[in-house]
Amino acid sequence: MVLGQGGYKFQNWAQTYGSTPELYFQPSSTEEVKEILDLARQRSKRVKVVGAGHSPSDIACTDDFMIRMDKMNRVLKIDKDKKQVTVEAGILLTQVNEVLHGSGMALSNIGAVSEVAAGGVIGTGTHNTGITHGIMSTQVVALTLMTSSGEIFECSNSMNADLFQAARLHLGSLGIVLTVTLQCKAAFNLQEVQQSSTLQEVLDNLDKHLNSSEYFRFLWFPHTEHVSVVYQDPTDKPPSSKASWFWDSFVVYYLLEFLLWISTFVPRLLPGINRFYFWLLFMGRSERVDISYKMFNFDCLFKQYVQDWAIPIEKTKEAILQLKSWLERNPQVVAHFPVEVRFAKGDDILLSPCYQRDSCYMNIIIYRPYGKDVPHQDYWSEYEKIMKRVGGRPHWAKAHTCTRKDFEKMYPAFGKFKNIREKLDPTGMFLNTYLEKVFY
Ligand SMILES: Cc1cc2nc3c(=O)[nH]c(=O)nc-3n(C[C@H](O)[C@H](O)[C@H](O)COP(=O)(O)OP(=O)(O)OC[C@H]3O[C@@H](n4cnc5c(N)ncnc54)[C@H](O)[C@@H]3O)c2cc1C
Repeated sequence: MVLGQGGYKFQNWAQTYGSTPELYFQPSSTEEVKEILDLARQRSKRVKVVGAGHSPSDIACTDDFMIRMDKMNRVLKIDKDKKQVTVEAGILLTQVNEVLHGSGMALSNIGAVSEVAAGGVIGTGTHNTGITHGIMSTQVVALTLMTSSGEIFECSNSMNADLFQAARLHLGSLGIVLTVTLQCKAAFNLQEVQQSSTLQEVLDNLDKHLNSSEYFRFLWFPHTEHVSVVYQDPTDKPPSSKASWFWDSFVVYYLLEFLLWISTFVPRLLPGINRFYFWLLFMGRSERVDISYKMFNFDCLFKQYVQDWAIPIEKTKEAILQLKSWLERNPQVVAHFPVEVRFAKGDDILLSPCYQRDSCYMNIIIYRPYGKDVPHQDYWSEYEKIMKRVGGRPHWAKAHTCTRKDFEKMYPAFGKFKNIREKLDPTGMFLNTYLEKVFY
């Protein structure tokens, strides 16, 4: 019998959201997960699974039962012929990357961090960049899901196909994902070429950049014209030493945090700080080679507030120029570097922000130096207005102010997902405050 712990305090990675679940469970088997759901049904409790708690919103919070899946973290099967791996949903990508590498395989694309769970990344539609690559959920070829009744569904394109297209980006709202099978490829190294440019140049030549590199993204330094263009492409070259030793330097790290903290009192220093760090770290051209997953991951520096909407790719220029022009008219608003601009291929996953369209993700951040609460509401609300004007859809993991009425307009298949959800979870066992705003 699995025992729940009282008094556990949950906090997300950025320490921007938290909750105190009545009982906290760490099951180590499917039977134990089922026992928890039986107990929840008896006591009319809601249940929330947490992966690695990295979502910068309240999507993983609950006051009722919380289940952390970190003891269900085994690699169940590696199929070298099909290049597929089946894992328990609580496994972290750090472990998946290493196990795959040992078998000569790799995930074709992952986000900035690997300390996230397989069930969690497909819960919110985690993405990286590359216009020929979909969000991470598109790498899922099968999964198993335990619903509120304790029934287990196997889902893939050939079994429970409709449920599969919903569960590949599930929001934690359909049930408990027990296992995930991911399509992989042969292990590969990536060569990164980073070069400085201007916002105008990149926006004027966007198609050329998109076609020049498999994993193209760019970083804009707000309050300036500066851009760092980042190309990453598979290579046969062996890993090299890091070109940019500055990133590892304590001086840069501590100095930056200190300067960001100072700028919270004197916001007019911010353009100078953004320019200084561009000059220090991104000016000119650099090259390096590393194993794919080490290259995809990067240091996100400090705790932060973050928003990241997916917009139709053809709206990229319009949206960025609108944000730039608004920041120029409002110099009192602090916008930290970088605004990270990434791209993803359209798909047919019901709640994917890239549903039926190639998309540009525009990620804005406000750091929280020394954990300080930094005002960001003006920036956030203008950014959201622009994103809505150009037909954007918010990243599900990241804080946004959208509600059901917005999602009904944004997602052609929203009604279909909602019907599937209500059939599987008629009593709302898997809802929380975040999901109530989404569905009711
Ligand atoms: C430093 C940092 C960098 C990031 N970089 C990127 C990036 O490059 N690209 C990007 O798109 N996002 C990025 N994110 C966001 C991150 O990828 C997502 O928040 C992701 O969902 C985190 O995974 P997790 O395991 O922490 O999920 P959690 O935050 O724990 O949970 C997310 C959702 O999944 C549900 N869930 C988790 N496991 C299960 C399960 N087994 N069954 C049912 N439901 C489950 C939870 O209930 C919740 O609804 C970043 C976040 C941080 C903090």
